[in-house]
Amino acid sequence: MRDVIIVGAGPAGSYLGYALSRAGLDVLNLEEHEEVGRPVECTGVVTKRILEYVNTKSIANRVHGAYVYFGDKQPLHIAKNEETLIIYRDSFDKDAAGMSISAGTDMRLGSRVRSVRRIKEAVEVEYRQLGETKTESAKIVVGADGANSIVRKELFGTLPKRVVSTYQIDYAYRMGDQDSVSVFLGSKFSHGFFGWAVPTGPISRVGLGTVGGGAKNYIEALQSMLGTGQVITVTGGPIPISYLGRTYSDRSILVGDAAGIVKPLTGGGIYTGLVSAKHASATIIDAFENDNFGESSLSSYERSWKRDIGKELFVDGIVQRVFATLSDRSLNRLFSVLSDPKMIGTINRLGDIDYPSGLIVRSLLSHPSLVFNLFRELSG
Ligand SMILES: Cc1cc2nc3c(=O)[nH]c(=O)nc-3n(C[C@H](O)[C@H](O)[C@H](O)COP(=O)(O)OP(=O)(O)OC[C@H]3O[C@@H](n4cnc5c(N)ncnc54)[C@H](O)[C@@H]3O)c2cc1C
Repeated sequence: MRDVIIVGAGPAGSYLGYALSRAGLDVLNLEEHEEVGRPVECTGVVTKRILEYVNTKSIANRVHGAYVYFGDKQPLHIAKNEETLIIYRDSFDKDAAGMSISAGTDMRLGSRVRSVRRIKEAVEVEYRQLGETKTESAKIVVGADGANSIVRKELFGTLPKRVVSTYQIDYAYRMGDQDSVSVFLGSKFSHGFFGWAVPTGPISRVGLGTVGGGAKNYIEALQSMLGTGQVITVTGGPIPISYLGRTYSDRSILVGDAAGIVKPLTGGGIYTGLVSAKHASATIIDAFENDNFGESSLSSYERSWKRDIGKELFVDGIVQRVFATLSDRSLNRLFSVLSDPKMIGTINRLGDIDYPSGLIVRSLLSHPSLVFNLFRELSG
């Protein structure tokens, strides 16, 4: 019997495998794809904080600003001293997997988990590899298996309440400013979320999310904001933007997208997935020290990740729900407030894509009329 089985070798699963193997545990990591990091379903926008977790050279570009478009208006440009990284997600995932394997993880590719069940004093996982059905058991199983997690389905039976659908193209079109991403707000580009264009030299990553389906319908509007180019890859997929009511259970833990531990305002889940894996590793190591794998022992996982990023995700989740209901009129009003040079200065100083709530609360407090107007709109 293994100590731990991790299902999924995305950033959260690989980082967790690395941390547990380094601590001397016997870790099996099952990944359904034959190649780590592929297919790519990501834009790769992250902060430097991820470098504290994964030693990687997978950086495609570094940007310092954003153009924010509201409908057809001239964009607002926000510049920042702080660098935002654009990564090649497939290389990044391979670097994380390499760290895990070097630390001792037994990573099996092409291994699709089909069922997970608790048996006496263990968890049993059934998977398919090279056309054969195999089983392995462990003291703990971790679902690091993304938005459509099988571990969540089998052992938790719950779903994240809010999920964003996405559609993204690699567009052979060189954006004029390679130092800034573009963000597109308003009903022309999305419902409930936003569109984006991210420069990586001759290829731009152009996409959007919607709360509910239909993301594909908006892509042409984004292409027309850029210019003539050629679509060379299409990707997309669901992003859960609300965390589950419970992220641990008897002999099982969920990390990253499987748990819905994702930034609600941007759909960014690489950093939050790594943070959740860090806390999961501490809890699992303690569980082995105390030889206790029950719910009460694993509950410290949820307490510790929430202590770290729970308040941020909670506040951002509320803001996202309000944002999703705003009409173009309200977004225009927001645009005028944001256009104020003092406000741009505040964003430059305080804006942090991993922790945006401080900026949001401060901006709302300094513009009570905005709060009033938004409230009036929301109440009908
Ligand atoms: C279009 C798009 C753009 C995005 N852009 C960004 C961005 O710019 N920045 C950012 O931070 N986040 C972004 N995200 C979100 C980000 O990709 C996820 O939050 C992140 O990948 C979560 O990491 P994870 O390790 O939890 O899960 P994943 O990366 O999804 O990894 C899960 C792994 O589990 C494997 N798996 C699934 N089921 C099974 C099974 N049954 N058996 C075995 N293996 C299985 C999968 O193959 C996969 O390798 C984007 C998402 C999308 C869809």
